[in-house]
Amino acid sequence: MSLPNRRFTSGGEFDVLVIGGGIVGAGVARDASMRGLRTMLVEQADFASGTSSRSSRLLHGGIRYLAQGRIGLVREASVEKMRLHDVAPHLASPLPFVFPAWQGCGWPRWKLAIGVRLYDLLCGRISGGSEGLSRDQVLARAPGLREVGLTGGVRYFDALTNDARLVLDTLHSAEDAGANVANYVRFVGCSDAGATRRCELLDTLTGEPFTVTARSVVDAAGAWAGGLQRSSVRLRLTKGVHLVIDRGRLPVADAVVLPEGDRILFVIPWGERAIIGTTDTDFSGNPEDVTSGEDDVAYLLRAVNSAFPAARITGADLVSTWAGVRPLIAPRHGRAGAPSDLSRSHQIRMSEPGWFDIAGGKLTTYRLMAERTVDRVCEHLRGNWRSCTTAATPLRTPAAAQFSSILPPAFGPEAVEFYCRREWVVHLDDVLLRRTSWHFYEKNAGQLALYTAHWMAEWLGWDAKRAGSELRRYSEQFCRLEIQDSIRRRL
Ligand SMILES: Cc1cc2nc3c(=O)[nH]c(=O)nc-3n(C[C@H](O)[C@H](O)[C@H](O)COP(=O)(O)OP(=O)(O)OC[C@H]3O[C@@H](n4cnc5c(N)ncnc54)[C@H](O)[C@@H]3O)c2cc1C
Repeated sequence: MSLPNRRFTSGGEFDVLVIGGGIVGAGVARDASMRGLRTMLVEQADFASGTSSRSSRLLHGGIRYLAQGRIGLVREASVEKMRLHDVAPHLASPLPFVFPAWQGCGWPRWKLAIGVRLYDLLCGRISGGSEGLSRDQVLARAPGLREVGLTGGVRYFDALTNDARLVLDTLHSAEDAGANVANYVRFVGCSDAGATRRCELLDTLTGEPFTVTARSVVDAAGAWAGGLQRSSVRLRLTKGVHLVIDRGRLPVADAVVLPEGDRILFVIPWGERAIIGTTDTDFSGNPEDVTSGEDDVAYLLRAVNSAFPAARITGADLVSTWAGVRPLIAPRHGRAGAPSDLSRSHQIRMSEPGWFDIAGGKLTTYRLMAERTVDRVCEHLRGNWRSCTTAATPLRTPAAAQFSSILPPAFGPEAVEFYCRREWVVHLDDVLLRRTSWHFYEKNAGQLALYTAHWMAEWLGWDAKRAGSELRRYSEQFCRLEIQDSIRRRL
């Protein structure tokens, strides 16, 4: 296998080894390297291939958590939302939300009006302030919404991002600051060697093991943390599924909140598409095996068709789906409770000297999670480290971010060349799923895969055999993540 895109050093001594190339690990690597720590990050598969490319793509304070009285969490996430808007404006676009109120649905208009006012106060304003909406105003922004019992609603702002791009740009920033970042390298285990640790790593592409020594280790393995030898993290995993349909089928001007009992679902405009999400159910399998099941799809279709009765969205309307696993901190005491009641707060622990577990949290709060983790690492290592500047340092210059945006880039060889040259690409699915989202956005993704493989062959030096095996690998991935045809026909 030719590997022109690998630029990490396999060996050496580091102040910190970060396990996991999702948003949390990327944030830690960026912060640590910017403070002057010799940093290495390893990701067992592609960067962002875990939960951090399967979210709802929102930077949000979490209006639902307000109703649960989790004011501190909302405030924290809201501040971070604004900070990300400042440091990564290309990946944080203000997004208006319409929250409709129906009679007897548990979210009356007066309650929503108080809620969004409080949200404004806690959150600061990423764009306009919130406002109350009459019934007609709601229908103008969300045509086709169920009119029976509709009393009006409110409009408030959060932001839309691109989760995988946020990870990749954070890693670029980490690498620019000196971090050694490696995808397709697994942390296998470690042994103590005086004040440092000998960490065993495995290059999963070549099959070659190698070791590095590290003065500290940060476990940012997300849903996989439970499988790490020294991790003290106790998680409760919950699954979330999203559907992507053509925007023409639900021509909403703003994102729309759909109340579902105590939960809320969203219809999120995404260029020419709309994202419908999400589910929240307990998950006990391997995180890499999570898929969109028939029940999940049926639940989301039922909810959206109940809110937009004339739309009659069916399985045949699906452009794509994705499923992800939330790595939520398991409650220490008491009854388990519903998945949606679990806190989205994070937890940082030094379970043994020099080993730090960071778990839970949200995409929105990753920078803060990283700052707090690296504070602890610096305290442990002692020394004159620089202070944290991630809240004020742009993630990328506008020129460097030319192929990094919320919506997928225009399909063509220029984008593919850029990712092949600059973005640690190894497999076809690295481009189609994480670098571009074409797999989720484009209706003829299978056809586009053929062109992409052809261009990648040119830039990465693949022969026909390798291009063929990449297409096979992609279609396996595609079948796993995608809605099965049988489900598509049945629903
Ligand atoms: C359905 C859903 C919707 C969501 N929506 C939102 C939202 O809109 N806004 C928001 O703020 N948050 C949202 N979240 C939460 C957010 O996506 C997660 O909190 C976040 O992505 C978790 O990031 P992470 O880095 O902890 O985990 P991950 O992204 O899963 O990263 C962990 C990585 O560690 C790697 N790894 C594991 N073991 C090893 C090993 N031994 N060696 C090397 N690497 C290893 C894994 O391969 C993985 O890539 C959502 C989550 C879900 C599931």
